[in-house]
Amino acid sequence: MISPYGGSLVERLLPAGAAHEALAAEAARLRPLVIGARAQCDLELLAVGGFSPLAGFMGSADYARVLREMRLADGTVWPIPVVLPVAKDAVAAGERVALLDARNDLLAVMDVREVFERDPEAEAAALLGRFDTAHPYAAEIAAGPRFCAAGPVEVLRLPTHHDFAALRLTPRETRERLAALGGGPVVAFQTRNPLHRSHEELTRRAARDCGGLLLIHPVVGMTRPGDVDHYTRVRTYKALVENHYDAERTLLALLPLAMRMAGPREAVWHAIIRRNYGATHFIVGRDHAGPAPDSQGKPFFRPDEAQDLAKAHAKEIGVEILTYAEVVYLQDEDRYELSDRLPAGAKVASISGTQVRRDYLEKGKLLPEWFTRPEVAKILAQTHPPRHEQGVCVWFTGLSGAGKSTTAEALLPFLLERGRHVTLLDGDIVRQHLSKGLGFSREDRDANVTRIGFVAAEIVRHGGVAVCAAVSPYRAARAQCREMVGADRFVEVFMDTPLDVCESRDTKGLYAKARAGTLPAFTGISDPYEAPEKPELVLPTVGPTPAENARRIVDVLIERGFLLP
Ligand code: ADP
Ligand code: ADP
Repeated sequence: MISPYGGSLVERLLPAGAAHEALAAEAARLRPLVIGARAQCDLELLAVGGFSPLAGFMGSADYARVLREMRLADGTVWPIPVVLPVAKDAVAAGERVALLDARNDLLAVMDVREVFERDPEAEAAALLGRFDTAHPYAAEIAAGPRFCAAGPVEVLRLPTHHDFAALRLTPRETRERLAALGGGPVVAFQTRNPLHRSHEELTRRAARDCGGLLLIHPVVGMTRPGDVDHYTRVRTYKALVENHYDAERTLLALLPLAMRMAGPREAVWHAIIRRNYGATHFIVGRDHAGPAPDSQGKPFFRPDEAQDLAKAHAKEIGVEILTYAEVVYLQDEDRYELSDRLPAGAKVASISGTQVRRDYLEKGKLLPEWFTRPEVAKILAQTHPPRHEQGVCVWFTGLSGAGKSTTAEALLPFLLERGRHVTLLDGDIVRQHLSKGLGFSREDRDANVTRIGFVAAEIVRHGGVAVCAAVSPYRAARAQCREMVGADRFVEVFMDTPLDVCESRDTKGLYAKARAGTLPAFTGISDPYEAPEKPELVLPTVGPTPAENARRIVDVLIERGFLLP
């Protein structure tokens, strides 16, 4: 088994026992410091030894040399800063502090040796080639606190992960499992995406080229914003490993790393981290850890820049870098090949990540079998239902008697007969249970409306159609509901019936009472109604029938893809 980077595994997690108890007792008396999501991922890697030889968060000397030369102060190659951002005056040098997670649970004790100022512009320039807040990491460090607390950490508890616990292996556990598979050379594969046939081909080829074991090592900490969530991804990895890889030669384990999306430098870092997990070889493909283009639409890096930088440091970091061109599908031969080894005139096929989303997942179309394994296609389709199976909210607003309930009732069967699951949240009925006890003051009205909005948002999140029919007289509260549900799935329908028509209908006798002064704060008479400024639909009820109006709503839902034509 290859030795860890720097010679030995630097684990900062304190095992249970007297020392652990003493430190926990001390921590209760220390100044608490809640750390963010990225710092928590970094702390976890420090705890388990994934960042060996680091024993804590970096100080100014390491930070400066990492930015300038990709080296720690002692000369060890290390391309990425690992720092703990803190608010000014939150901690002082010489102090010991307790590091807590967002729920105020104790994670670790840190010996603060130094507090220094980071330089977001210089850091972005070093990692990304330029400072551009179109890059999420640059935006994050520019907006975050400028100060960093540095010093060794002693970790009392790893951040809790209830998902896929069996696959979350520490470097020590990973090494044991690799040894149990026979040891020898190990090639690690990094990924933050669902694995398709091209990746499978790439990893198989790499395992053959290194003549050893394959460690499939996907990142489940922080990845690029907009990536497929890790719950879905890990299900695809499991399905593949169980059905299509050689179980005797393959290990799947999850890495709780917070990626920086720093391309070339990140590739070197990934290789170092994988050495700590027992890998001798590391795969770097095109555009490894590549960020989305910058604010000018230009890529931050050349596609082969990560390969070049990683290769240039391979000897010093002691990890062999396996680089490959893009793996593409040869249509006529029904096989995969590297793009730099294609037969002349070969017809190749590929589907880009954008096309996967736009042309397949969003349309409810299964990905073709040449592109992805059917097990994977099925999992992706499950978590990305087509739009006509996604949730949507139809929100009626208007005066009492404007026709909200009547139109909603006409709409319901149209949705049900198309196989949709529908919940009607009618103002009058909601006030009998969900909003029981609320009156008609502005506060109570807003509370009533946002409660309906909250329930609607949950229904929509679970793929249902929420039809809401309440006067909802205030613009601000309706806007809040739109926000809760998601603006792209909120269809506001203004029932535009003039006050005198509503009053002449007076189905519940409420207008008469309001005029007589026995019913106070009645919308339109003695309380305001703010008509929507940009509703998705305005429906008059003088002229069109309820069914005709309901059909117009159906047309809008079809046009937006929420119903099949
Ligand atoms: P990241 O590099 O950001 O982790 P991916 O999960 O997409 O993103 O890629 C993981 C690795 O696989 C990278 O080294 C990448 O260059 C390589 N890779 C991705 N797609 C292909 C492909 N079609 N052919 C060859 N290599 C690929
Ligand atoms: P709201 O829910 O907006 O308070 P309702 O639907 O309870 O209003 O009441 C509207 C009344 O107007 C019902 O009695 C309905 O029969 C009558 N009405 C007459 N024409 C229409 C129409 N085109 N659309 C909706 N309702 C209408």
